[in-house]
Amino acid sequence: MTATVIDGKAFAATVREKVAGHVARLSEEHGIVPGLAVVLVGEDPASEVYVRSKGKQTVAAGMKSVERKLAADTSESKLLEVVAELNADPTIHGILVQLPLPPHIDAEAVINAIDPAKDVDGFHILNVGRLGTGQKAMVPCTPLGCLMMLRDHHGDLSGLDAVVIGRSNIVGKPMAQLLLGESCTVTIAHSRTKDLPEVVRRADIVVAAVGRPEMVPGDWIKPGATVIDVGINRVEDRLVGDVDYDSCAAQAGAITPVPGGVGPMTIACLLANTVTACCRAHGLAEPEGLTA
Ligand code: NAD
Repeated sequence: MTATVIDGKAFAATVREKVAGHVARLSEEHGIVPGLAVVLVGEDPASEVYVRSKGKQTVAAGMKSVERKLAADTSESKLLEVVAELNADPTIHGILVQLPLPPHIDAEAVINAIDPAKDVDGFHILNVGRLGTGQKAMVPCTPLGCLMMLRDHHGDLSGLDAVVIGRSNIVGKPMAQLLLGESCTVTIAHSRTKDLPEVVRRADIVVAAVGRPEMVPGDWIKPGATVIDVGINRVEDRLVGDVDYDSCAAQAGAITPVPGGVGPMTIACLLANTVTACCRAHGLAEPEGLTA
């Protein structure tokens, strides 16, 4: 079997187009421009690249982009002031504080200071709770992107066995909640899981979010399963995922490549979340196909 390649780059382009279409309608029909603010503390080069890319794509979709760059030694109280200002700004519908934050700042306190309605990363404790109880939430971007690709490929996910490898708050846990919401039978595997190969072999859907280069070999994959590879690992001069692509593609029915799979969907979903937050703030219908 040779797997269908799920082209995240192309899919992300269609998501961005949908977002741009919705943004244009919001402007024409209601005179509203969605706004996204990204706050960066310090000069981590990877974060700077990511923040620039978010800003560019926000503007390309027709939205307002605000970047607040703060020095690495900014105090937690100063950062909380900036968050409060953005919370109060009616032209800003989404706020994202780029992680990681310097060690002298309590990241949890900062995230929970963001207005949950503007929390486009979906990390605020209220959004985590809402997702966990099946209520309308802001959903973390990476798992939302994975869900969109899975829905697009499978249609109905109900009853499928899904194994999520990794239990982080930003990927593994919200991914599992979303799959549960789709009525999958969900297993969360992690570093202490007994006999991981056997657990993964049961899965119709495997989502790997571990951060260990190519750790999932093809012989763990049930023939025909769908493999979503969230991992981004730099090995020498190339990027690889958490699954061994060639051997997994030989077994799977469908698979996301790295790069060009989950990665491009993450920023596209950030834009989608900003439009969703904007629509909710104004009591307008949410964009179809861009939410969980
Ligand atoms: P994390 O380090 O917070 O969590 C990793 C998880 O993997 C942990 O829950 C741990 O229990 C589990 N784990 C570790 N070793 C294991 C093992 N041997 N067997 C089974 N489970 C094991 O990582 P994260 O933030 O969830 O990110 C995971 C990967 O996804 C990383 O490569 C990261 O770069 C990537 N990522 C990609 C995107 C994207 O946009 N594509 C976004 C976020 C993270």
